[in-house]
Amino acid sequence: MRIERVLANNPGPFTGPGTNTWLLDDGTGQVVVIDPGPVDTSHMESILQKVSGREPIGVLVTHTHSDHAPLANPLARELEIPAYGHAIGPEFDPDLLLDDGSTLVVGESRLEVIHTPGHADDHLCFRVGNVLFTGDHIIGGSSVMVEDMGRYLVSLARLQGTGLTRLHPGHGDDMEDPDRVIDWYIAHRRQRHEEIYEAIWSGASSTAEIVEKVYSDVDRALHPLAARSVEAHLTLLRDQGRIALSADGTIMLSPNPT
Ligand SMILES: [Zn+2]
Repeated sequence: MRIERVLANNPGPFTGPGTNTWLLDDGTGQVVVIDPGPVDTSHMESILQKVSGREPIGVLVTHTHSDHAPLANPLARELEIPAYGHAIGPEFDPDLLLDDGSTLVVGESRLEVIHTPGHADDHLCFRVGNVLFTGDHIIGGSSVMVEDMGRYLVSLARLQGTGLTRLHPGHGDDMEDPDRVIDWYIAHRRQRHEEIYEAIWSGASSTAEIVEKVYSDVDRALHPLAARSVEAHLTLLRDQGRIALSADGTIMLSPNPT
């Protein structure tokens, strides 16, 4: 099995060094492209150059965010192969839909689709043997923005102890020892969850005040993303009965903790 990265030219505070486009070749010459990234002619040229002489069979998208999916349809059209994903997005229209448990045959390998909602509802990870392509479910060198914390934690726990040996993320470098990485991710989210609860306990009553208190160690450019993760933690805290919202949107400790 041969796995190659083509780095898209979209570095930034939300994308790190840029989006990782992954080429997976099982060794027979059949190849799939994972997360082609934003529409960018030179990136498309780099991908086409890499797959030339091989037999591309599909363009796969982990989720429909703008740094992962928009090039998928143009690339698939150019290669005359299908684009695969879990859902239609603002800049993506899959030819074939993938769901949890779907499989795709790549040469003599089998690629397994795992639905991992949390970062985005439509997020998929792709597993081949003990290797996992993680998109933005898990990225190299940092935590991720989360839209739905309850589902995100379940999606992380599902991968624990399943024999994974390597992660290929949507941003940043490969990771070895996936169970240790996943343990860190879960511990980090639990820690943030308690820090957010403590911030409310000590008087923070809006998302902005919570971000100021809890994310003081994080680059301010990332605070808008942090605010979205805080909102996801707040939803979970409310579901847990630990906090409540007053009519004017003020966050407060639950008067009737369960
Ligand atoms: Zn991304």
